[in-house]
Amino acid sequence: MTTPADLPLEFGDPADLERLRAGFRAWLAGHPLPERLPDEPLPLFLHRWHRLLHSGGWVGLDVPEEYGGRGLTALHQVAVSDELGARGAPGVPRIGYLAHALLEFASEEQRRRLLPRMLAGDDVWCQGFSEPGAGSDLAGMSTYAERLDDGHYSVRGQKLWTSYAQYSGYCLLLARTDRAAPPHSSLTAFVLPLDRPGVTVRPLRAANGDDEFCELFLDGVRLADSERIGAEGDGWALAMTTVSYERNALDTGHLSKYGLLVERLRRTARERGGELPDGLRSEIGRCFVDYEVLLAHARRRIAERRAGQAAGPETSIDKLLMTRAEQRLYRTALQVFPDELHGPGGEVFAEFLYSRAASVYGGTSQIQRNIIAKRVLRLTDGAD
Ligand SMILES: Cc1cc2nc3c(=O)[nH]c(=O)nc-3n(C[C@H](O)[C@H](O)[C@H](O)COP(=O)(O)OP(=O)(O)OC[C@H]3O[C@@H](n4cnc5c(N)ncnc54)[C@H](O)[C@@H]3O)c2cc1C
Repeated sequence: MTTPADLPLEFGDPADLERLRAGFRAWLAGHPLPERLPDEPLPLFLHRWHRLLHSGGWVGLDVPEEYGGRGLTALHQVAVSDELGARGAPGVPRIGYLAHALLEFASEEQRRRLLPRMLAGDDVWCQGFSEPGAGSDLAGMSTYAERLDDGHYSVRGQKLWTSYAQYSGYCLLLARTDRAAPPHSSLTAFVLPLDRPGVTVRPLRAANGDDEFCELFLDGVRLADSERIGAEGDGWALAMTTVSYERNALDTGHLSKYGLLVERLRRTARERGGELPDGLRSEIGRCFVDYEVLLAHARRRIAERRAGQAAGPETSIDKLLMTRAEQRLYRTALQVFPDELHGPGGEVFAEFLYSRAASVYGGTSQIQRNIIAKRVLRLTDGAD
């Protein structure tokens, strides 16, 4: 039986990664997680953590040195996430998928200018893809960037669910640049400075009390040609690259965190098994199986990364598995530890509430199944 404390994901050159892990553990001993200040919003607390991790060289390990990283591999970054997750500490900031989009699509000048500041936390970024009428059907978005005679663009439209836009300086924005072209070839990506005239950011309060989401109103926002990422029409490919990294099971900080709770549930089932209803003991068993399946998938992704394979549509499988595991885990934990953890303010209760969103963010579970059917299994419904 593996436990999170054993750090079950073995990959790469074991000696090399063990050196990195040892170095990180030594650094962590001298740089513990700072205390969250009274009334400090979570994103600002996590931002302080981000900057502290970066000061030690633990952010962007897989990003080339010329763009502010350390020129190591994704597996080195995974090892750092794994160490943090196994300690119940917040993970490395989730900017990897945005960084990948810039690495693949931005110009050399943009990569050198934007990436080091993104990795350092000097600039905070958000993702402006979804709209009120375009979430699952992203290609149907209506935000429009009109090319002006002076070479600039004028952007009009509305974005929705833009996480933490109120704390961000920049947004990776998708907009349509050609109304006549088919939807998938008419989208273009931009870097939008959120203090630009014409931008309004309005936070929305969610069920867990957080104001994570924002509406973003764009009213004739001028963007320069140099603020376009990639060519006109590259936006769909950039979006697919971004979400493939966002859905990947290699975010082992999450897996280690799940592993801690699975192990606690197993211990409870052993010690107090007789008191728990049969149905709940079965659920604990299912939590354990979900976790083991996720680990197996993470190992598969590790093998693919080592072979130099980029993330693709098969990461939709990871997203479905992570969603199932996370939702079952926190639902079960609430039932097993009702006195200790149930109620607003309890950490597991907060995680339980957020787990409900897992089947929506990064693309809904229904959409992941469609992607698996069409792009992984190559099944069609006769309409294609
Ligand atoms: C916590 C959280 C954070 C988010 N952060 C961001 C962010 O930072 N930036 C951003 O751009 N977006 C963000 N989103 C938005 C997210 O990507 C969308 O909510 C998601 O893609 C679904 O789109 P929608 O909400 O418009 O639902 P809809 O697309 O309207 O879907 C409604 C329902 O219909 C189903 N459905 C739709 N089409 C199909 C189909 N073809 N086949 C089967 N079923 C279908 C869906 O599965 C869903 O159940 C976030 C969402 C959440 C929950």
